[in-house]
Amino acid sequence: MSKSLKLFNESKKIIPGGVNSPVRAFKAVGGHPRFISSAKGAVITDADGKKYIDFVSSWGPLIIGHSRPEVIRAVKKEMEKGTCFGAPTEIELKLAEIIVEVFPSIEKIRMVNSGTEATMSAARLARAFTGKNRIIKFDGCYHGHSDSFLIKAGSGALTFGEPDSPGITGASARDTLGAAYNDMESVKKIILKNRGTIAAVIIEPVAGNMGCVLPDEGFLVELREITSNENILLIFDEIITGFRLARGGAQEVYGIKPDITTLGKIIGGGFPVGSYGGRKEIMSLISPEGPVYQAGTLSGNPVAMRAGYETLRIIKADPDFYRKLEKKSDMLEEGVKNNLKKTGAAASCSYNRIGSMSTLFFTGTKVTDLESAKTSDIKKFGRYFHKMLRKGIYLPPSQFETFFISSAHTERDIEKALKAQYESLKEIF
Ligand code: PLP
Repeated sequence: MSKSLKLFNESKKIIPGGVNSPVRAFKAVGGHPRFISSAKGAVITDADGKKYIDFVSSWGPLIIGHSRPEVIRAVKKEMEKGTCFGAPTEIELKLAEIIVEVFPSIEKIRMVNSGTEATMSAARLARAFTGKNRIIKFDGCYHGHSDSFLIKAGSGALTFGEPDSPGITGASARDTLGAAYNDMESVKKIILKNRGTIAAVIIEPVAGNMGCVLPDEGFLVELREITSNENILLIFDEIITGFRLARGGAQEVYGIKPDITTLGKIIGGGFPVGSYGGRKEIMSLISPEGPVYQAGTLSGNPVAMRAGYETLRIIKADPDFYRKLEKKSDMLEEGVKNNLKKTGAAASCSYNRIGSMSTLFFTGTKVTDLESAKTSDIKKFGRYFHKMLRKGIYLPPSQFETFFISSAHTERDIEKALKAQYESLKEIF
């Protein structure tokens, strides 16, 4: 028995499902998770010593790869000064400054410990600012696991306020309204039906949690217009896309100014960090400046702040950072498309990509929303996943996730992954 399997069996006895976050358990693809013992650059090593080229990148944070020496050094130095004080530190300010500099929509920012905390706090703030209760979210978008956002996609939720997860009250469920991604008519209908009660629309401006799904041309612009006209706040959840698609995130790429932005992942440089920020008049409602309460024992933890700051500093120091990442991502896309053609898989797959985010869906349908994402052949994805894993390529263990490239991936890594993909697809199709 492998060491990973042994550890998994032991974990399952005292940790629900053997994991501390569900998708890690490999339930969507079968088999057992690999326990990771170390990682460097683009390569992770499991408990049995097997190495993989990593396209999960810790689900997005590691845009400069694992264990980047400058980050490790900076973190060590910070830790030696003390690990937490429960008092403000200079490094919190430095991280806030580097973010505010590139996000024109963020005038003030508050640090928290996770993406979930960021979106939960943003929703509370939007309700307080507008004096309204309801939030529109998009089916297939994920905004963490606070009650407001764990609402089943689709009409059942709209009509009956059925919670997606047991333990969520009907009142919470009724205050969250689900619209279809890329479907402006569904947004308009909800707004019309619930006029005067909607505090905010929250969206992943590029969706990363139903696989990678891009906004249709003009969709975000129209969303900005309609929310402004209806006195509804627009929240961009850029927890994946912030510093991923560009330094200024998807809002820089698409030229949109949301009212509130949530960030996480990359800004923590591999440590637990989230944040929410926006216009001064909105953010000034946060305690102690205003009455909206939100706090955290470990918020702005200096070690986490240092890791985030160092990561963003490295990105900023290289004016070609995103161009180089794009070049590698182009190379991957070209190779994937070639492989699909050569193996006869093209008609049964569709590939979405923007920058260093991508997903290969096992469906011939163009994927533009949750409905089309769900046409994917999940069993086939599972077979593909395991073939790739055996060949040393570590993909997200679910069809409905995004693959990430980091600046640590070399052209040789991408060539290896493409070769493994060609062989895997040839065996399947
Ligand atoms: N929002 C988005 C877009 C995410 O992708 C995630 C996590 O994957 C979250 C929010 C929740 O973040 P966390 O897992 O740090 O709570």
